[in-house]
Amino acid sequence: MSGIRVGLGFDIHRLEEGRPCVLGGVELPHTTGPAGHSDGDAVLHAITDAVTGAAGLDDIGTLFPDDDPRWKGADSRALLRAAVGLAADAGWRPGNVDVVIATEGPKIKPHRAAIRASLAELLGLDVDDVNVKGKTLEGMTELAEGRAVTVHAVCLMTRVRPAD
Ligand code: MG
Repeated sequence: MSGIRVGLGFDIHRLEEGRPCVLGGVELPHTTGPAGHSDGDAVLHAITDAVTGAAGLDDIGTLFPDDDPRWKGADSRALLRAAVGLAADAGWRPGNVDVVIATEGPKIKPHRAAIRASLAELLGLDVDDVNVKGKTLEGMTELAEGRAVTVHAVCLMTRVRPAD
C-alpha cells in the first residue's frame, strides 16, 4: 500500500455579470463572476475533487449534493474543509496542491499570492506547498469572451495512518 497518492480535479463555471468573482476563496475585482448555486468557486471545487479523489472518496457532487439542505448554497470553503476532514478520517492529509486557472475573464496573476495564501489556510499547508497559475484560452468561443472559467487542480496526499 502506497504512502502517497495523487488526486486530480477539474471544474468549469460560466462567468456572469454582477456575480462576485470568488476564486480560491478570494474575491477578485472583476465585472463578472462564476455562476453557481453558491459562490461558484471553481478553484475550490476542483481542489475539493482532487482531495477526495486522492483519498479514494466520492466526488464533490456525491458527497455534498446541492439538494441536501446541509450543503444547499454552502460556502465552497466549507465544502473544501469538509473534504479535508473526510480525507483525514480516511487517513490522508494534503501534501501539496497545484492549480491552473484558465480564463479570459479576471486576470489571475495580480492575485496569485492572495489565492495561494487562502488555499494554504484552507488546506492546512505552507504557502510553498500551494501553487496557482493563470492561463488564457487562446481565443475560443464562450471561453474567449470571458464568459467561463476552467480550473485543473492536482493534490498530493500523504498517508498519516491506516484507514479506520
Ligand atoms: Mg463547481
